[in-house]
Amino acid sequence: MAEETIFSKIIRREIPAEILYQDDLVTAFRDIHPKAPTHILIVPNHLIPTTNDVKASDELALGRMVTVAAKLAAEAGIAEDGYRIIMNCNRHGGQEVYHIHLHLLGGAPLGPMVS
Ligand code: 5GP
Repeated sequence: MAEETIFSKIIRREIPAEILYQDDLVTAFRDIHPKAPTHILIVPNHLIPTTNDVKASDELALGRMVTVAAKLAAEAGIAEDGYRIIMNCNRHGGQEVYHIHLHLLGGAPLGPMVS
């Protein structure tokens, strides 16, 4: 059984976060240390530690994560200029929180993806 992270507490609203969207499958909230003018995290409500752990039964939640990212990008006014959505996996991917999350980054030119 995978261990819960701080994101489960945010989803259950046990600790504060600026939640922008929540439904039965996913929750979106602002990153505490934004790396772009808009930096939002979109997470499944149930714990999936890494993308290596994704199962076919998670496909609805993962699709919803992308739909919600696009909706929040439009609401933030960054859709037309563009944005980046990223999921990091494990050590080489730079994953710090082991509850998968989509980073929605935008609001300025983002530069090369890997430097
Ligand atoms: P990762 O490196 O795992 O892909 O990204 C984890 C992200 O979660 C980081 O951008 C980090 O700033 C953010 N983060 C970590 N702890 C918290 C928290 O308690 N609240 C919020 N809102 N974001 C967090």
